[in-house]
Amino acid sequence: MIERTLVVIKPDGVQRKLVGKITARFEDIGLKIVGMKMIWLDRDFSKKHYAAHVKKPFYKYLEDFIVAGPVVAMVLEGVHAVDTVRKHTGATEPFAAAPGTIRGDYAHHSYKHSDKKKIAVKNIIHASETSADAKKEISLWFPEKELHSYKTTDENHVF
Ligand code: ATP
Ligand code: MG
Repeated sequence: MIERTLVVIKPDGVQRKLVGKITARFEDIGLKIVGMKMIWLDRDFSKKHYAAHVKKPFYKYLEDFIVAGPVVAMVLEGVHAVDTVRKHTGATEPFAAAPGTIRGDYAHHSYKHSDKKKIAVKNIIHASETSADAKKEISLWFPEKELHSYKTTDENHVF
């Protein structure tokens, strides 16, 4: 099943100059970039993207984190793209993310929000969790005209 999913390289990933490495990992496993841009989110957009978390105690810190610098958003297409990308993303908390995943390999900051630590988990990328989330998130982030259908030269082999 070919589907699309949203990946956002968060401000920590951009500022640590990991955009190229992260993008290459997804291209290397055969996923196709069908949309890509750098944007600096405002607080309203953060509330739309993280609507499921707005009422949670850590939300304020998540919002501070996600608007702290530009992010790179991309839509990736491929077989089981949503689950595949989540697998390569790794667990939310970097200390729990398996080696070989993006969060396991690159994230260094594992504090969770608590009364003492007023901070968001800095974990490099966002990836849509389900196919339904992916559809909603892609339409929030990318107007149809910014998404492109084309063939890669290696499509018949890696897909
Ligand atoms: P994302 O949605 O960004 O891909 P995720 O699906 O792994 O991450 P979610 O539960 O959706 O995790 O949380 C969204 C983001 O909020 C996390 O990636 C992290 O940056 C932050 N976050 C989640 N839980 C906490 C917490 N307890 N304390 C601080 N920050 C948190
Ligand atoms: Mg999530």
